[in-house]
Amino acid sequence: MPISQELLDILACPKCKTGVILKERPKGSGLICPTCKVIYPIKDDIPIMLIDEAIPVGEDGEPKAGYTSEWK
Ligand SMILES: [Zn+2]
Repeated sequence: MPISQELLDILACPKCKTGVILKERPKGSGLICPTCKVIYPIKDDIPIMLIDEAIPVGEDGEPKAGYTSEWK
């Protein structure tokens, strides 16, 4: 089941409380915090909204080199 808009509306970055943006990727979707420039992975359709799990992203919204880019 994909992440619903209703769920997206209530999800926020645990660090800065900014609303997150869904990023659909063939290698694994995630939720991007535009303020922190991190992506929270979605694993098995469950958003992992943990600061420890956040992966830094570049301007293109892709995980930076050296970080896991695939989490399916
Ligand atoms: Zn944030």
